[in-house]
Amino acid sequence: MGKIYQIYGQDAHDMTVKLLNAANAVSLVPSGGSVALKPNLVIAGAPESGATTHPGVLSGCIAYFRDHGVKDISVIEGSWVGDETMRAMRAAGYDKVCDAYGVPFYDLKKDRTRPVKTAVGPIDVCCRALDAGLLVDLPVLKGHCQTVMTCALKNLKGCLPDKEKRHFHAMGLQKPIAALGAALKPRLIVVDSICGDLDFEEGGTPVQTNRMYLGTDAVQLDAYGRALMGLNPEEVPYIELAESYGGGSAAWSERDIIALNKPSDAAAYPRPSGTVAALTRHVQADQACSACYASLVRALHTTGCGKGVRISIGQGFRGKAIDGLGIGNCCRGAANCVRGCPPTADQVARALEDMAWGR
Ligand code: SF4
Repeated sequence: MGKIYQIYGQDAHDMTVKLLNAANAVSLVPSGGSVALKPNLVIAGAPESGATTHPGVLSGCIAYFRDHGVKDISVIEGSWVGDETMRAMRAAGYDKVCDAYGVPFYDLKKDRTRPVKTAVGPIDVCCRALDAGLLVDLPVLKGHCQTVMTCALKNLKGCLPDKEKRHFHAMGLQKPIAALGAALKPRLIVVDSICGDLDFEEGGTPVQTNRMYLGTDAVQLDAYGRALMGLNPEEVPYIELAESYGGGSAAWSERDIIALNKPSDAAAYPRPSGTVAALTRHVQADQACSACYASLVRALHTTGCGKGVRISIGQGFRGKAIDGLGIGNCCRGAANCVRGCPPTADQVARALEDMAWGR
C-alpha cells in the first residue's frame, strides 16, 4: 500500500512544499521530463468558497519542482461545461502565480485531444494531460451534488473536452470516472482539504478542515478522503470501480499515514449535511451535466421553492414531451422550460419563484 503524507495548517504554499519534500516527489519526474499541474478550477470562484484548489498549492508545487531542477512546468485545466476556464483561473488568483513564476497556463478546452482505450470504451482526452512527463493531480476534497464526493479521480474529468464531459453524464458518471482514473493513473496527487465545501462542488458553504495530504495512488487517496468525510463505500462506488479497472488500491490503514505535524483544532470533518439529497428528492434526473444540476440545486436551496413541482433535467429528456418544469435546453419539450446549456442558477430560481407565486 502506498504511503499518505499528511499535514495540517492553512498556509497552502508552505504545506505543499513540505509534503513534496517529505515524499521526495521529484523522483517521480522522468529525466528531462515535464510537469503538468492539474488543479480543480471547476468554476470561477475563490478557493475560500470551498470549490477550487488554493493558488498556494500551485505556487508550492512550482517552487518545489523548480528548486529541484525541473524546467518544463505548466498548469493545465478546463473548467466545467458552464464556465470559462480563463475567467475561473483569474478568480482563483492563478494568473498572479503564473506571472510571478513565469509558468504557462493552458486552457484544456482549447487543447487537441486523442482517444484513450479504457474499460468503458475509448475516451477523448486532452493531449497536454496525456503527454506530461508527470501529471500532478491537485484536487479539492469536497462534496458533489451527483457523486456525493469529488477528489482525485473525479478531478481528472477536467482533462476532457466539453463534449466528452457531457458524454460522461450520459454514461452515468460512475463508470467513466473510474475508467478515466484507471487510464490516466496520475502518479502524484496532492489533495487540498483546507476548506472544501462538503455539500456543493461549486462551493459557497466551505468547511475549515485545515488539512492537506499527498500520495501516489488516486484510488487510495479517494478512499481515504471518503473515510474522512464519513461516507460509506456504497455512497461513492466509483472508487472501488476504479480499483477493479486497475486504477490502484482502495485499501488504506492508519499505518500508511505519515503525519508531518499534529492535527489542528479545526481538523474534524462533519458529514455532508444531506441538503442536496433532501432538495432533489422529487427531481427526475436523467444524464444531467454537473453544471446544469448544480444550477438547479443552488436555485432550490436559495429560493426554498419547488415543493410539489414536477422538475425534469438531463440529456435523457431530449426530444421528449415533459410535464412541469424542465431545466436546460435538453428539456425543451417541457410545458415550462428554463433555456440554457446550462441555465444559470438565477434563471432557474426565477422560474421556480414564478411557479410558486403563480406569475
Ligand atoms: S442542457 Fe444541461 S443537461 Fe443538457 S447538455 Fe446542456 S448542460 Fe447538459
